[in-house]
Amino acid sequence: SPVPITVLGLGAMGRALANAFLIGGHPTAVWNRTPGRHAELVAAGATSAATVDEAVAAGGLIVACLLDHGSVHDVLDPVAGDLAGRTVVNLTSTAPSDARELAAWAECHGIEYLDGGIMSIPAMIGRPESFLLYSGSKEVFDENRAVLELLGSAEYFGADAGMASLYDFALLAAMYTMFAGFSHGAAMVRTEGVPATEFAKHAVQWLSAMVQVLPLSGEAIEAGAEADGQSLDFTKAALDAIVRASREAGVGLDVVGPLKALVDRQVADGHGAKAFDAVFEGVRAPGSE
Ligand code: NDP
Repeated sequence: SPVPITVLGLGAMGRALANAFLIGGHPTAVWNRTPGRHAELVAAGATSAATVDEAVAAGGLIVACLLDHGSVHDVLDPVAGDLAGRTVVNLTSTAPSDARELAAWAECHGIEYLDGGIMSIPAMIGRPESFLLYSGSKEVFDENRAVLELLGSAEYFGADAGMASLYDFALLAAMYTMFAGFSHGAAMVRTEGVPATEFAKHAVQWLSAMVQVLPLSGEAIEAGAEADGQSLDFTKAALDAIVRASREAGVGLDVVGPLKALVDRQVADGHGAKAFDAVFEGVRAPGSE
């Protein structure tokens, strides 16, 4: 029979997780610090626990989805004794060092620990495009894989509990800078009255084509960014023009300014003939050479 699951934290994401477990047919107990966030889940068959103790006593797998690292300790520390021999899957976003600290804390208390990073928004949970990254106990991952896959596809990144979150934040860094670039572009065309919705159509077309090149960028980085096609000198000229166009339009340089500085430095350090991917070395070893 399906294993019981306890979900700690009923924010937007915790509610989506609990809902996916219910749809998957698992008896699901839910708890939230502030009462009153469980109504829809209870209507869908969840059991509401008034305290963390009660939630943990419901048995089965413990899934935490709280705000941050501190909140996970706030919730789990008082019940650490009861968690001995149990399994905790922590889907709260935490820094890699925090995930490692929690894994060590869990080991100290005889708790099986798997850390996870959610590459999804609540509305995507349980849908094919949702994916989650895991690291920590391989046994926990293997034993609970079917349960975890109710949330989205599941990939294991090794016994170092910090790896999932390292990947998570690396992917988020790539995403946020891309979205920031979108805002910059939208601000540029807005100076001529073009709405961001209109700009979005063209950005989707352009960026969708460009992300297809990422595997080649990966290869170029690993091969030392020897120029094959556009050089960093070429990119510098393009960025200089983008910066000038932005200035003329009265658009701030908060987003593209740091990128220009990075490229300028790589060129000044003598890497102008290399491919754009040479910025990787500038980021990896800031201010070196
Ligand atoms: P919400 O802000 O909606 O919910 C936060 C939850 O944490 C609430 O249940 C809140 O309880 C609880 N909480 C905060 N501090 C404490 C504390 N000290 N003790 C006990 N409970 C506490 O966030 P989300 O549900 O959206 O996100 C939860 C986690 O999932 C975060 O780590 C987030 O980074 C991650 N995530 C979220 C995504 C999203 O798109 N939403 C995407 C990927 C990951 P209370 O109701 O009492 O305040």
